[in-house]
Amino acid sequence: MKKAKTAEPTITRDLTPERAACPYCGRPMWADYAARRTVHTLTGVTRLNLTVRRCRTAACAGYKKPYRPEAEGSFALPRHEFGLDVIALIGRPRYAEHRSVPEIRTHLVARNVSVSERTVTNLLDRYDELLATSLTDDHRVQKVLAAQGKVILALDGLQPDVGHEVLWVIRDVLSGQLLLAKSLLSARNQDLAALRSAVKGACGVPVAGVISDGQHSIRKAVARALPGVPYQLCQFHYLREAAKPIYEADRHAKVALKKKVRGVRQIERQVEGRTDPEAGAVRGYCSAVRSAITDDGRPPLDASGLKLHARLSCEAIREAAARTF
Ligand SMILES: [Zn+2]
Repeated sequence: MKKAKTAEPTITRDLTPERAACPYCGRPMWADYAARRTVHTLTGVTRLNLTVRRCRTAACAGYKKPYRPEAEGSFALPRHEFGLDVIALIGRPRYAEHRSVPEIRTHLVARNVSVSERTVTNLLDRYDELLATSLTDDHRVQKVLAAQGKVILALDGLQPDVGHEVLWVIRDVLSGQLLLAKSLLSARNQDLAALRSAVKGACGVPVAGVISDGQHSIRKAVARALPGVPYQLCQFHYLREAAKPIYEADRHAKVALKKKVRGVRQIERQVEGRTDPEAGAVRGYCSAVRSAITDDGRPPLDASGLKLHARLSCEAIREAAARTF
């Protein structure tokens, strides 16, 4: 495609991947490098500052595979200079209203997208390309997905004009690959569910998650249409945020609890060499406390401090303590 006239970006968006755990091995990914893109959207020429993560575990299937911000593709597809919203906008005048290229150009200019007629022609080609994407026929994409072994679906709904068609785009976050695009009059649940199952069936690999970053009404429709599939972006993000204060409190509680039971070693020493039943009970108590201390939880869902508290107040220890003291 011919380069769009170089225009200075008027909007800057910093995008970071929501996911920090490697999709292949689950270990933390590094914020490895930065990338930049300029995209022409309906809101203006947008500079995207992107943080790209990569897994640094050599044995991992995802070793050094770039993981780009999930939201990047909702602005524009890879190698596209124009935003998906611009492409979505030209569909209606072209196919529902049968407008000519100069008319569509006027339409775009009125929406502050400065383009030449030639660019409009290219954009129309992109629109056709998008809607013609058929996962089942595309062996190159099939190969990419098979090599990955899984997909993380991102579903974006673009509705440039209220009441008009929504351009639905389903892409794979791991490869950035477009999987399906459809223009639908409504955001009806059954339509979305049908789109998703079409993609799911054609992928040939498991769907590890679904992400949507669309407008609010659209996001709700997606959530209703895709029950049972982890809604990863939101869930992960909120869980992590929600767990932060709990994690902090839990860490403090754990330290305090450990302080309280630090005397165990001293008690053990006091009964060293003794073989009477009382000494046996003391040793039993001490070893129960020891194993409770060393048994860590995994935040955020399994808090160490709470676990320690539960274990220290468990029946076995209390009984042993009652017998001993
Ligand atoms: Zn990994």
